[in-house]
Amino acid sequence: MSVKIECLCIIGLGLIGGSLAAALRSKNPELKLIAIDRDSETLRSAKSSGLIDEGYSSVTELSDIPQVAVVAVPVSAMRSVFVAIKPWFQHCLAITDVGSTKQSVLNDLASVLSPEQSGCFVPGHPIAGREQSGLAAALSDLFQGRRVILTPTEKTRSKSTAIVSQLWQQAGAEVEELSPRDHDEILAATSHLPHALAFSLVRCLTQKHDGEEIFRYAAGGFADFSRIASSDPALWSGICLANQDALLRAINLFEVQLGELKLNLEKADGDALEAMFHVAKMARDQYPG
Ligand code: NAP
Repeated sequence: MSVKIECLCIIGLGLIGGSLAAALRSKNPELKLIAIDRDSETLRSAKSSGLIDEGYSSVTELSDIPQVAVVAVPVSAMRSVFVAIKPWFQHCLAITDVGSTKQSVLNDLASVLSPEQSGCFVPGHPIAGREQSGLAAALSDLFQGRRVILTPTEKTRSKSTAIVSQLWQQAGAEVEELSPRDHDEILAATSHLPHALAFSLVRCLTQKHDGEEIFRYAAGGFADFSRIASSDPALWSGICLANQDALLRAINLFEVQLGELKLNLEKADGDALEAMFHVAKMARDQYPG
């Protein structure tokens, strides 16, 4: 089923919202793009570069409710946006979000509207990003060939899910569906834990040594592993809290691995260490990225 969408509104024109606008602008120039962002300078620059057609600093300034809306704000801000756009849920063909956690977003929505009233809402998460934030970091090809996970519930209208899938496919992404719970468990292990570890490693090194001195001697491994510690601390502390239980489970599993590593090192058991690293290498070599 293909539905022609003429007007789309992005709330939060940062890295992800701006990248989606740029991808859609290049792939579907006829689509009218409206943005809502609290930073008037961001709106002015997006409008003057032709990225968006209209920009507003508040939901209340819009005269017409858009056909489709994408909420691209930090997960900690989702609820306040849902409150502001509450009347839209009766009229929009589809409303989606891009938040890195899915159960927390659904809980936030459920605190504003009943599941019956929010059938047009399709929870979503593009598995693509960068450590930089804001519109200046947006890229039109950020989602090209990347996965977007949708986590529709039993109350989500299939027509709304189809519209949101179509949107992400236009932006170059491959769309898959998971349950919100499976999404949060998987992303806790593959994204939220690595970010938490990168922040912890860099913090640990800067506390142990003079910060500048240690970075002068940092080799490729450190650069690879620590890159994501440049991500926005407020955004990521919000993500960790929003997926607290699943992240704690992932941390517990990691602690077991670290404990085993420490024990083998204490015993100077090279064979055991090599066997541990071999399992990891075999798994990592299967992964194309
Ligand atoms: P970002 O670049 O900081 O953009 C966030 C946008 O939301 C900005 O326009 C920001 O405006 C606005 N905003 C922040 N707090 C707000 C509030 N309380 N009310 C209204 N607007 C608010 O962040 P991002 O990386 O695009 O992240 C946006 C969403 O994408 C998050 O939910 C994140 O979990 C998800 N995501 C991120 C990545 C990633 O790699 N970064 C990947 C996939 C998904 P101001 O500039 O005025 O603060």
